[in-house]
Amino acid sequence: MMRKPIIAGNWKMNKSYSEAMTFTREVNQKIPSEDVMDTVICAPAIFLKGMEERAEDTPLQMGAQTMHFENSGAFTGEISPKSLADIGISFVIIGHSERREMFNETDETVNKKMHAAFREDLTPIMCCGETLNQKEEGFTEKVVSEQVTKGFNGLSKEQAKRAIVAYEPIWAIGTGRTSSPEDANKTCGLIRQVIEQLYDNETAQSVRIQYGGSVKPENISSLMEKEHIDGALVGGASLQADSFLAIIEGAK
Ligand code: PGA
Repeated sequence: MMRKPIIAGNWKMNKSYSEAMTFTREVNQKIPSEDVMDTVICAPAIFLKGMEERAEDTPLQMGAQTMHFENSGAFTGEISPKSLADIGISFVIIGHSERREMFNETDETVNKKMHAAFREDLTPIMCCGETLNQKEEGFTEKVVSEQVTKGFNGLSKEQAKRAIVAYEPIWAIGTGRTSSPEDANKTCGLIRQVIEQLYDNETAQSVRIQYGGSVKPENISSLMEKEHIDGALVGGASLQADSFLAIIEGAK
């Protein structure tokens, strides 16, 4: 099965509003057609509407970095799925390791957010991945399987097929230490197997799986060549227009 590649930038808490607008103008005309690949920038929420407006007639799509699972209520500081959908946002990162580690996200809240995303027709990019300690102790498979199983809990087959999973080994995030394409492919293959066990082969073959963790223009092609890797979630290297465009080029 041919899965459409998806390259997503995760800007984290970086850039000013005007820098975000400049970036959008710079890359806008150079983004490949949506028939070839999905190209997404997950920016701080306050930039999204402005970026979306500037990219309106281009294939560049916007994503949020997190959201609440409720659509309204007394949740000071939070952003609702409905409000993201309302301004035309297509994607949302759910359960990034930084959110799990620093903002108390658990497999249970990740699962609620997965359901909330589909309720509002947002495509979730669900992150999973092991710490260095877990890797060294041989727990990668166990940790990742559990995160995927719990994150997908209760999703219909149709929803599961549309979900995107980002495998991001925590020791590779922002460290310059990328997983080898072989190891990354092995774990992405395991994620596909878990989805097959939860649903069926057709569903597992439809789900797009990204690798994330120190992806750069220099290593994107060797990762994308691998059977189970359908794209990348890119942090640091998505902040500069040239390197983001070079990654897109390398992913074709
Ligand atoms: P990195 O971050 O590319 O800077 O390692 C990836 C991520 O956290 O999504």
